[in-house]
Amino acid sequence: MMNFAGKTAVVTGGSRGIGRAICEELARGGANVVLCYAGRAEAAQETVTACEDLGAKALAVQCNVADEAQVKALMDAAVKEFGRIDILVNNAGVTRDGLVMMMKEADFDAVIDTNLKGTFLCMKAVSRIMMKQRYGRIVNLSSVVGLRGNAGQVNYAASKAGVVGMTKSLAKELASRGVTVNAVAPGFVATDMTKDLEGQDNALLAAIPLGGMGQPEEVAEALAFLAQSPYITGEVLRVIRALAEQKTTMIIVTHEMAFARDVADQVVFMDGGVIVEQGDARQVIEHPREERTRQFLARYSEN
Ligand code: NAP
Repeated sequence: MMNFAGKTAVVTGGSRGIGRAICEELARGGANVVLCYAGRAEAAQETVTACEDLGAKALAVQCNVADEAQVKALMDAAVKEFGRIDILVNNAGVTRDGLVMMMKEADFDAVIDTNLKGTFLCMKAVSRIMMKQRYGRIVNLSSVVGLRGNAGQVNYAASKAGVVGMTKSLAKELASRGVTVNAVAPGFVATDMTKDLEGQDNALLAAIPLGGMGQPEEVAEALAFLAQSPYITGEVLRVIRALAEQKTTMIIVTHEMAFARDVADQVVFMDGGVIVEQGDARQVIEHPREERTRQFLARYSEN
C-alpha cells in the first residue's frame, strides 16, 4: 500500500467511477482528500463517506473545472481546510461521441473545455502552490484513445492527446522545483462513461487478452504509484488489460457512438453489424440493436 500520510490530494470528478476509486486509494494511503464534482452532490457525499470510513478527512466541493474562478475557489477551499496541496489528480472528463461529419461544434467544445482546458486550469492553479512547497505530484487522466485515435471520438481523442502534450510540457517546467507531472492512459474501464456499451461488449471483452474490462480500482492503483514516485516525470502509463501493441480489432457502431478498440485495415458497414478486416482476418460483428444500427447507417450514408 502507498503511504500518503500527511499529504493533501485534490481529485477532480471524484464523485463517481475512476475518480471515486482514486479518492479511496489515496484515502487508504492516509491522504486528506478534496474532491470536486459537476452536479451530483449526493454521489460526491458518498465518496466523502467512503474516504472517512477509511480513516481519512475528506471534503466535496462543487466545481466546473472549465471555469477558472470556480477552479480557484476549489483550490482555495483545499488550502483553507488542509493548509497545502500535495497531489492533484485531473480526472474530471466527459464524452460527446459522434462521427466528424455529424459532430456539433458544441459537442467538440464541451469535451475540450472539460477534459483539456479543465486540466490546464487546475494545473495552473496549483503550480504556484506546489513550486513554493518544492513538492507536488500531478497526475492527469489521458486515455488510450488519445494515443491511438478512435472512430467517433475526434473530440475526446483530441482532448486526451492534448493532455499528453500538456503533461510532458509542464513536467519540464516544474522538474527543477520538485514537482512531477505524469499521466495514466486507461483502456476500457467499467464506469458510467462506458455504460452505453452494456449489452454490446461481449465481443469487446472476448478480444481483451487479459480478459474483461478494466476496473476503476486498477486505474487508481497505477495512478497512486505515479502520485508517490519522486523519480518519474513526463511519463504516460497505459493501464490496459491488453498488450499495448496487440491488434485486437473490434469496431461496434450504434446510432450515437462508434467505439474502436484498435486499428482496422478496413471496416465494411452492413445491416445489423459491421465487418472488420485486418490482414487475412475477417470478422462479422452482429449488432444487438439492429434497428438502431440500421437507422444510424442510413443517416451515415445520407450525410
Ligand atoms: P464518469 O464515471 O462519467 O465520471 C465523470 C466524473 O467527472 C464525475 O465525477 C463528474 O461529476 C465529473 N465531471 C464531469 N464534468 C465535470 C466538470 N466540468 N467539472 C467537474 N467535474 C466534472 O467518468 P469515468 O469513466 O470515471 O472517467 C474518469 C476519467 O477517466 C475521465 O477523464 C475519462 O476521460 C478517463 N477515462 C475513462 C475511461 C473509461 O473507460 N471509463 C477510459 C480512459 C480514460 P458528476 O458526478 O457531478 O457528474
